[in-house]
Amino acid sequence: MPLFSGLPVAFTHGQGVWLWDTKGNKYLDALAGIAVCGLGHAHPAVTAALCDQAGKLLHTSNWYEIPLQEQLAERLCRLAGMENVFFCNSGAEANEAAIKLARLHGHQRDILTPGIIVTEGSFHGRTLATLSASGSRKIQSGFEPLVQGFYRVPYNDLSAVQQIGERNKNIVAVLVEPITGEGGVFIPDEGYLKGLRKICDERGWLLMLDEIQTGMCRTGKWFACQHEGVAPDVMTLAKGLGNGVPIGACLARGKAAKVFKPGSHGSTFSGNPLVCRVALAVIEELEKKKFADRAAKVGKRLLDKLKEKLNKTPGVKEIRGRGLMLAIELERPCKELLQRGLESGILINVTADNVIRLLPPLILTDTEADLLADILEKMVRGFLNEK
Ligand SMILES: *Cc1c(COP(=O)(O)O)cnc(C)c1O
Repeated sequence: MPLFSGLPVAFTHGQGVWLWDTKGNKYLDALAGIAVCGLGHAHPAVTAALCDQAGKLLHTSNWYEIPLQEQLAERLCRLAGMENVFFCNSGAEANEAAIKLARLHGHQRDILTPGIIVTEGSFHGRTLATLSASGSRKIQSGFEPLVQGFYRVPYNDLSAVQQIGERNKNIVAVLVEPITGEGGVFIPDEGYLKGLRKICDERGWLLMLDEIQTGMCRTGKWFACQHEGVAPDVMTLAKGLGNGVPIGACLARGKAAKVFKPGSHGSTFSGNPLVCRVALAVIEELEKKKFADRAAKVGKRLLDKLKEKLNKTPGVKEIRGRGLMLAIELERPCKELLQRGLESGILINVTADNVIRLLPPLILTDTEADLLADILEKMVRGFLNEK
C-alpha cells in the first residue's frame, strides 16, 4: 500500500554510523532508523546475540515461562526504577498498553469514563487509541470517530493541566513525552515533569511518560525523566530498546504495577526469546560503554558546533537539543532537505514541516559529529541562500 513516500535510495549494508546504497555510495546515518539503531549498524554484540539465539529458540508464546524475558524485565526495571513490564512489539502497542492500564485503573476505582490528559504536538502512535491520544490533526484526519476520553492541553503548560483537573473528576492519568519527538523536538521548561509529578500525586493520577524516542540513553540519560529526577508511574519504551528488532515495553511502578491481572492484556509475539535476547545485548553494551554519558558529551559537542556555525544565519529560527536528539528549526518548510541530505551523504529527518531532526547513533564519534556539523552547515546555508 502506498503509505510511505520513500526516498529513491536503497541500502545494502551498514557499519557503525555508516550506510552504503546499491550504487556503492556511502552515507553518514544521522537518523538511525528513527532513533532505533543506537548502537549503529552491524554492531558485533547485537549480531552475535541475534545469530546465537536464532540457532536456539525464536518463539514459544507467553503460555510458557520465558527466562530471557524475565531477565530483560529485571534489567530494565532496575535501570528505570520501575517494578514490572509488559513487553510488546512496537511503540504504539506500548502506549496502547499504558492507555488500557490507565483505564482499568480508573474502573477499579469506580471511575466508569476514565479520562487521560494528553498534549498538543504529541505523537504516541498510529493505532486508533494512540492516534486519538496524539496531538496532530494530520494523523487523525479521516479516521474518525476517534477513541474518546482524551483531554488535550498545550505542551509545557502546567496550569492547563490543573484546570482540566478542576473541571473533570474522571481524570485518571497524564500521558506526555518528556521531549516531543515527531512534534519537533520541543524541550519543556525545567520543572515541567516535576510539576506534572506533583499534580498527579495530589490528585491520585498516574504519570505516564512516553519515552519511546527519548529513552535508552538518547538524551544523555538512560531515560529523559532522569534529567529532572522524576519517576513516572508508567513508562513506555520501544525504538532504541531493540536496535532494530521490533520490541516495545510498558513499565509500571507502585499502584500502576498492580492493575493488570492475568487475562487483562496480551500479545502473541511479545517478549519472545529472540527479541529479549537482543534487547539484553543492547542494554549490556549501553551499560558497559556508558552510552548515556557518551550521548550527553558528543550531543553537546554537536549542538555547540551547530550553534556556532548556524545560529546567526538568517532563516534559522532555533537550534536545540538534548544529548543526541537535536533539531535545527528553520523559518520555512524544508522537506526537500531530505533529498539534499542524500546528495550530501547524510541521512536526516524533517519533522513538523520546518524542523531538521537529528537522531544519530549513540556511537557517533567526535570526528563524525564534526563532519556531520560541517555537512549540515553547507547544506542548510545552500538551501537558505536560494530563496
Ligand atoms: C515512534 C514513537 C511512537 C510510536 O512507535 P511505533 O513503534 O512507530 O508504533 C510513539 N511515541 C513516540 C514518542 C514515538 O517517537
